[in-house]
Amino acid sequence: MNNQWVEFANNVKRLYGKDFVPLHEPTFNDKEVEYVTDCIKTGWVSSVGAYVTQFEEELAKFVGMKHAVAVVNGTAALHIALKVAGVEAEDEVLMPSLTFIATANAVSYLGAVPHFIDVSMETLGIDPSVLKIHLNKITELREGELFNKETGRRIKALVPMHTFGHPVDMEGIQGICNDYRIELVEDAAESLGSYYKNKHTGSFGKISAISFNGNKIMTTGGGGAIITDDATLASYAKHLTTTAKIQHSWEYRHDEIGFNYRMPNLNAALGCAQLEKMPEFIAQKRLLTKRYEQLITNLQGVHLFKEPKSCKSNYWLQTLILEDVINRDEVLAILNENGVMSRPIWTPMHKLNMFKDCPRMNLRVTEFLNERVINIPSTPIKEGIL
Ligand SMILES: *Cc1c(COP(=O)(O)O)cnc(C)c1O
Repeated sequence: MNNQWVEFANNVKRLYGKDFVPLHEPTFNDKEVEYVTDCIKTGWVSSVGAYVTQFEEELAKFVGMKHAVAVVNGTAALHIALKVAGVEAEDEVLMPSLTFIATANAVSYLGAVPHFIDVSMETLGIDPSVLKIHLNKITELREGELFNKETGRRIKALVPMHTFGHPVDMEGIQGICNDYRIELVEDAAESLGSYYKNKHTGSFGKISAISFNGNKIMTTGGGGAIITDDATLASYAKHLTTTAKIQHSWEYRHDEIGFNYRMPNLNAALGCAQLEKMPEFIAQKRLLTKRYEQLITNLQGVHLFKEPKSCKSNYWLQTLILEDVINRDEVLAILNENGVMSRPIWTPMHKLNMFKDCPRMNLRVTEFLNERVINIPSTPIKEGIL
């Protein structure tokens, strides 16, 4: 078992032509330098400047939605998306336990409570069939709103997350949101460039969040965006993320407690350059999956996770699922010691101290995957090198 993983590590290093292969690195060239230099030369580096608007317009076009609001990071995007979707203190918000901490944190910032749902082996995201059974058991509709009979709290929204870029079963999810009268807010932080039945992830719900952190498929240094087709929600999100300031030539007037969440022009400039390369990044990532597929044919007891049916994934992070639970830490140790940066999937939210008492259903698949999923280097590589 050890030898085959050492050999795999050597093959990955050969693939990348490096002695140490990070999990995910940003890819820049002259375009990024040109746009960012333009900000510095003109002095427009901060909260005013043309790149923010340009980035918002180009991003909206890329995802096929009417509006995008650029913000400081994906967590802030989720926070405001949930707020404008109507989530209030003491509400419950349905979400996977198997997610990055930001999903649960954003809900908590509003004084709301995460309610953890199990995931599907096919998508790694929320499983609508088990969710439905769970909701039938513990909820009731009262005057058009959904309530948890066990906690007495209102269930306001459902936040599916497209794990490592793989789209969730959105038809199933949308059906549940309609039937149970809950808002659909997508955490599309990882899935820019991923499609469910030819429709971009993040375009199914009322409003969604994307992240442009340094390790995501494209980056703005740090950054995020709220996307929606709803003009009222978009302008409210813009207002809240820009300190709720009322337009005036010189006076400072604010009509509620807002947030300083606007993406700086410098970051938006980087974003404009990166967005131009998205088709290339996606093609390279999908090619990388093919190469990994070849490399793991020699490996016993593991398979490479592939995009769900009817979906086109951005393959943001390449994912291996081990058959045998006892191997996970051993495999991670061998790969990391041999210069191939690899990481386990996140500790599920319900196992963290802050969220251990939150309501949840049986999380059988979440626990199964938690013990078996690892991510391997996923930086896009140029076709010529591959
Ligand atoms: C990256 C990420 C976010 C947002 O992260 P930021 O670092 O705040 O941009 C949110 N949810 C998930 C699932 C993520 O992977």
